[in-house]
Amino acid sequence: MFSVDVGPQYEGETVRKEDFQIEFGGPKHKFKAEWVTVTPADEVEDEKVEIIGKDIKDFEEGASVPIFIKIAVAGEQLEKDMEPVFERRVHMYINYIEGFWHMAQRDEIWMRLHKDSFKKGLNSLEEIGKVLVMLYKNELSIIEKIQITFITDPEKVEKEVLEARKVYKERDDRLKGITEEEVDEFYGCSLCQSFAPTHVCVVTPERVSLCGAINWFDGRAAYKMDPEGPQFAVQKGDLLDAEKFIYSGVNAIVAEKSLGANSVFCLHSALETPHTSCGCFQAICFYIPEVDAFGIVHRDFLGEAVNGQKFSGIAGEASGGRQNEGMLGMAISYMRSKKFLKTDGGLKRIVWLPKSVKEQVKDVLEEAGMLDKIATEEDVKNVDELTEFLNRVGHPWVTGQA
Ligand code: SF4
Ligand code: ZN
Repeated sequence: MFSVDVGPQYEGETVRKEDFQIEFGGPKHKFKAEWVTVTPADEVEDEKVEIIGKDIKDFEEGASVPIFIKIAVAGEQLEKDMEPVFERRVHMYINYIEGFWHMAQRDEIWMRLHKDSFKKGLNSLEEIGKVLVMLYKNELSIIEKIQITFITDPEKVEKEVLEARKVYKERDDRLKGITEEEVDEFYGCSLCQSFAPTHVCVVTPERVSLCGAINWFDGRAAYKMDPEGPQFAVQKGDLLDAEKFIYSGVNAIVAEKSLGANSVFCLHSALETPHTSCGCFQAICFYIPEVDAFGIVHRDFLGEAVNGQKFSGIAGEASGGRQNEGMLGMAISYMRSKKFLKTDGGLKRIVWLPKSVKEQVKDVLEEAGMLDKIATEEDVKNVDELTEFLNRVGHPWVTGQA
């Protein structure tokens, strides 16, 4: 069979930096991604695993390399809508492998192989591919054929990632214009409870999951495909508080799925009983008390945020599935939502962003008249400089015009 054990019992393990044989993706690499594509059956060579570029055994101990994972699936009943659902399972299934750790999603993935598992003989991506083939076919009978390609050649990785990004964007764009008010059902996900036992993601048309991998359509497709799976339907229920976006149905399911740990979610606030954060948020919104406003820092930002902390430090405080007032794990595309932090003041209450995030959401900031009001690491280094910056540019939160 396999050189190491495979099963859900390994899901919660992490691999520390002293212990890895090889690392794939992560913040050191600009290009890395995983992508599942529903493909016509005659174009899928069933159970084939291919490696383009060097394999695990060809690298030195401690190497860190870019990666692209492409999974083509086929089946009579498969729909394009299901792609993100299958894609999110990569995270779950790879974490089933003893000594193999997977984090995040889409073009942010980060994986590590523990030296002990390497010593046991797990020295090829081929084996990882075989495990994935087995799990996908066993757990999702709807998949009839599956082919997996791992690319480690940096140039080819870059090329594929740029293509995959177009697909991620298309998926996100489908939601434009659909509001929470006009649907009866939201969706939820509890996949991350293996790491964060009380964490529940609530996904609405105006609130993508914090990992960025599950939007409302994806939740719906996942639930339809596998009603017993990690994604579930959330009957919205009554709107108990229109300012705080508290819904009776959301509260009920959060209480149930968190085993009573949390019982109220304000869907669009980082301040009051906010949504919980597991560990795979793309970014974190953090409260800056000196200016009574928020900064946002993302996973790939390696420097210090304006409050003097690095992403890893802030993430440590924010993660674990608790409700942290003043901290909210979030997807970057949540900033595109009309309900983004609506209870707290929305985009008008953001005062600091890494430059690369600002670039990504430039159009929405421009539209909100905020593009030149929000400081980046290039404008300010600390909160004193930030205060000065906000006064100078006349930030609406500071001038009281928000
Ligand atoms: Fe599911 Fe949320 Fe985890 Fe994403 S972050 S996999 S939506 S629980
Ligand atoms: Zn998570």
